[in-house]
Amino acid sequence: MDRTSRRAILCFHRVLPASRRTGPDEPYFMRQTALELERFCWLLDELERRDAILPPESLFDWTSGAGLQSRPGVILTFDDGYADVLEFAAPALKERGMRALLCVTTAVASGAQQGFPVDHWYATVQAAAARTGFLDGFTDEAWAFDLARAEDRARLVNGPEKRAFVRASPEDQQDMLDRLRRALRVDAPVSIPPLLGVSELVSLTREGFMLGAHGERHALLPLLSEVEAAGELARSRAFFPAHRLPETSILAHPDGATCPRTEALAQAAGYTIGLGLGSRFATRDDPPLHLPRLIPTNDPSWFERRLLPLFTAEGR
Ligand SMILES: [Zn+2]
Repeated sequence: MDRTSRRAILCFHRVLPASRRTGPDEPYFMRQTALELERFCWLLDELERRDAILPPESLFDWTSGAGLQSRPGVILTFDDGYADVLEFAAPALKERGMRALLCVTTAVASGAQQGFPVDHWYATVQAAAARTGFLDGFTDEAWAFDLARAEDRARLVNGPEKRAFVRASPEDQQDMLDRLRRALRVDAPVSIPPLLGVSELVSLTREGFMLGAHGERHALLPLLSEVEAAGELARSRAFFPAHRLPETSILAHPDGATCPRTEALAQAAGYTIGLGLGSRFATRDDPPLHLPRLIPTNDPSWFERRLLPLFTAEGR
């Protein structure tokens, strides 16, 4: 594989000051879906020094085989559409003259859906009044937790119970959240992080962001029936012209979950590029509707271990 044909497509979610590591946003840091602003700026500076950043539009030429760049490049993408992209990431990018792709879950951006299911899960976990208790009905076995133990707190954020929740239908998710609230003795309503609405998306496009779709409700498309998945894909794409936003043919698969059927349905719905996850660089051998992306972490060695090989022969 010719290394000039590789792309590091980076996938960010939230970008927050390090001071937010504790408190309501802690689970996002634990899950690596929040990157420290300081780490984000450091990463941008390292990439700027190497003149590595390519505009998101370059993906079209690259996947179609045209416009071969003589060097490897990095493309910045954001998933979900949290308000901190506008508050923290956008100014850092603007300062450096960099542009990025933002893929939004359209029912969340339109306000039809209040955030993401995981937002409600994390907010409930962070509001726990109980220290010990039982969580039952999520997996085959009830789980007795003690939140004085770090491993039990970590399990609540991403253990089998939460993973079962993510894969459940919206109706079952509501029931699971109710059970979580009872087990953790959370009585008051919880608040979730602010998300970008249509007017903020307009602002971001003016600042140079390119928009993409990230599903209608963030449902995992391979788990839906063919009719449901096709509907999600079509409605997610139709959101943009319906709100006078630039049309898009880029889809970021929710949670990176995809399959050949999902990719065929996406193509039929008019998408030409599909972004997944894969912890490796994208090559021209990857199907355009399933390009792997890397999630940068707060680990200071991440850049050297995972991204630097893009620029060296060893990453071939
Ligand atoms: Zn997502």
